[in-house]
Amino acid sequence: MPGVLDPEIKRALTERIRFYNELGIYDFYRRENPETQPEQREEMTPRSKAVAAVVSGEELSAANSRPESSAADPVTALRLIREDLGECTRCRLSKQGRKQIVFGVGNPKAELMFIGEAPGADEDQQGEPFVGRAGQLLNNMIKAMGIRREDVYIANIIKCRPPGNRTPERDECETCSPFLMRQIAAIQPKAIVALGAVAAKTLLAINAPMSEFRGRWFDFRGTKLAVTYHPAFLLRDPRQKKETWKDLQMVMKELGMAIPAKGAE
Ligand code: URA
Repeated sequence: MPGVLDPEIKRALTERIRFYNELGIYDFYRRENPETQPEQREEMTPRSKAVAAVVSGEELSAANSRPESSAADPVTALRLIREDLGECTRCRLSKQGRKQIVFGVGNPKAELMFIGEAPGADEDQQGEPFVGRAGQLLNNMIKAMGIRREDVYIANIIKCRPPGNRTPERDECETCSPFLMRQIAAIQPKAIVALGAVAAKTLLAINAPMSEFRGRWFDFRGTKLAVTYHPAFLLRDPRQKKETWKDLQMVMKELGMAIPAKGAE
């Protein structure tokens, strides 16, 4: 049972929670210290008692409710998440030449979500993910599955173009991805396809090569997640399209979609 909370600790914890909320983070997990002996686990320290009290208290629900938590539908939820993101300056990319934030596009009730890495020059110009050459190929992949781009939802791990299209830094992914997590929670797709290693590593928090990611299902917070090659990689090595088609067939099977005979060109 949570104890009575010292007002000073309560104020400090509420402040800290507010700080995380401003970063777009609303979910907190309590991690067991693996080095703690079982007999020690029973006993709560004054600090963990304080956390438990706040976590179970009404202060938390007041301080910690996501703006979209009262949304009646995914369209409203996505709008509220976008508003909460604002003209984001939470990471250095806001000062490194991005023209605009690339939030995400597609059907807010999509069964299938594609998640790439970061906007490139075309996406930065147009404010929409996957509209350049890699986007054309992604469109072909989606078409080959017998569906349209408008049927799925497309987003990236980060929402601002890194200078020179460099790979996003880890801290940029960590700062930005909570908003993507909230988009996923709002859309509740049946399956997610992570495009490339950056998306896979960030979503799954696993550092592995593509060979270990492909050809199997992962659990992402209760949603099925598959990994395939990034379309930009396929532009450089078109021979891998055959492999990608196998990954997409696995996804189609899971979603109960009819499998057309021909893959993406
Ligand atoms: N590559 C990505 O990862 N995302 C885009 O939106 C475009 C290219």
